[in-house]
Amino acid sequence: MAEASSRVPLAFDSRADQIFPTLTAAQIARLAAHGRVRRVEAGEVLFEAGEKIAQFFVVTAGRIEAVRRTAVGEELVAIEGPGQFSGEISMLSGRRGFVTFRAIEAGEVIEVGREELLTLVQTDSELSDILMRAFILRRATLIAHGIGDVVLVGSAHSSGTLRIKEFLTRNGHPYTYIDLDTDPGVQDLLDHFHVGVDDVPVVICRCTFVLRHPSNGEIAECLGFNEAIDQTHIRDVAIVGAGPSGLAAAVYGASEGLDVLVLEMNAPGGQAGSSSKIENYLGFPTGISGQELAARASTQAQKFGAQVMIAKDAKRLVCTRKPYVIEIDDGSRVSARVVVIATGAEYRKLPVDNLSQFDSSGVYYGATFVEAQLCDGDEVIVAGGGNSAGQAAVFLAQTARRVYVVVRSAGLAESMSRYLVRRIEENPKIVLRTHTEIVALDGNQHLERVSWRDTRSGTVEAHDIRHVFVMMGAVPNTRWLDGCIALDAAGFIKTGPDLSPDDLTAAHWPLARLPHLLETSLPGVFAVGDVRGGNVKRVASAVGEGSIAVSFVHQVLHE
Ligand SMILES: Cc1cc2nc3c(=O)[nH]c(=O)nc-3n(C[C@H](O)[C@H](O)[C@H](O)COP(=O)(O)OP(=O)(O)OC[C@H]3O[C@@H](n4cnc5c(N)ncnc54)[C@H](O)[C@@H]3O)c2cc1C
Repeated sequence: MAEASSRVPLAFDSRADQIFPTLTAAQIARLAAHGRVRRVEAGEVLFEAGEKIAQFFVVTAGRIEAVRRTAVGEELVAIEGPGQFSGEISMLSGRRGFVTFRAIEAGEVIEVGREELLTLVQTDSELSDILMRAFILRRATLIAHGIGDVVLVGSAHSSGTLRIKEFLTRNGHPYTYIDLDTDPGVQDLLDHFHVGVDDVPVVICRCTFVLRHPSNGEIAECLGFNEAIDQTHIRDVAIVGAGPSGLAAAVYGASEGLDVLVLEMNAPGGQAGSSSKIENYLGFPTGISGQELAARASTQAQKFGAQVMIAKDAKRLVCTRKPYVIEIDDGSRVSARVVVIATGAEYRKLPVDNLSQFDSSGVYYGATFVEAQLCDGDEVIVAGGGNSAGQAAVFLAQTARRVYVVVRSAGLAESMSRYLVRRIEENPKIVLRTHTEIVALDGNQHLERVSWRDTRSGTVEAHDIRHVFVMMGAVPNTRWLDGCIALDAAGFIKTGPDLSPDDLTAAHWPLARLPHLLETSLPGVFAVGDVRGGNVKRVASAVGEGSIAVSFVHQVLHE
């Protein structure tokens, strides 16, 4: 065993008493009723880092250390004494743990199976509060300290690096980032794992597996994101998409006893997850970042027993028989009696031929702190006149030297909330360019120059600007439905009263009743959120629709 350092980063956190609460005798007794008492010897390993989490431990005598593996040995993360307990968010999802738990001295623990713990968390509100708060804060601290099982070696000039950073960040997975261009020790690490500079971005997964230019799916596979989920049994509900609408349906469905599986092609949060600050969602007077809202919602869904599969792209809905089957891009399938489509919408792109050349290398579709760091002190362009553009402009103005808001229209009043228009007008760093469109992007590995045209005069100007944020609205993610469901002219899904008698006849609607509110032209298939025709494109309406759909799901399941 390598000697552990004396660093105890988690314990230094100012909220240490919430991260490492000590349970009372009565609380321990309630947990003990669901588990078994186990003697441990000095040096005994209760749980090995990298294993799927199947047990939860409460220390009743002695001390347990949590250590993590590093490239050169081990590092001490925390020490748990009597009344304290193991675990963080992976306890809910059943994913692999980041640390090894080892007894420092002989003692005793109560061992509770993960399934029993999940039941307890759903039924004992006092224990639920203490455990959930500790699990969430522990994960947040692991992320803040980069204590995880992933090392990303990348470069600020590589779009793949930004994609992987976003994937890990938005999935709340801690990682250590090593920059090829600035980190002096990087060559030793590359040599150690036999990888070259051309292989970047490289993900070193669980200190063992080296992935060169990995896809999000390969990273999810290596980290075991979906390992604990049984794909073979028929679910009550399969929800496709883990944006606000899908997560709301998952929380309500699972909390009302339904067997819920969520499929998400990227990371929980959807479009909202890329928002730097949502200020108009009820209950958050000082705003909340989309990332935080998504993390909370996803944890809440899993607390109630919903299972969320990550990096799983639904490719086809087999709608000719029941239970419905959803085919996934990796060739696997899931079956469910009811399907909730919550696939949202995708950003509109700039009509510039070489746009994809600069995807994430100067052209971005979200303005979170990750992108803001990349353009610190630079000039940036925000293209678009809606609320997301307004928020991005105000957010980026905190760090950028100047923000140009570029719109084709004559102003913002018709497309943006009044409060944002006022903030833009009052911010001296933000310059509004009306009657303007971007016509060319230039650069080599990274965007270096942007040309825009004044649509009234036709004058084209080129500016040395390295960052463009495209915030021009979205088109629905319905291509995968392949003729199964009635869509409107723009490709959004028709539901409930929007389905005309002709739509229902064309779809061979088989039931005597009409479709429920939010039900599509296929019985038992619902559509919620931005993907639905007529939906108001807001977080609150997405959440509202996701939760309303669940009441109809119950009715359909009892038909
Ligand atoms: C930058 C930005 C800022 C915003 N700010 C605000 C705000 O402040 N206030 C507000 O009210 N609204 C805001 N909005 C709008 C709000 O985010 C959306 O209305 C909301 O996210 C819609 O939720 P949704 O669940 O319907 O869809 P989405 O959020 O689009 O989520 C859909 C999810 O489905 C997944 N998906 C798509 N296709 C598939 C597939 N085939 N298989 C599996 N998964 C799939 C996607 O990856 C995504 O995670 C903002 C939007 C953006 C882009």
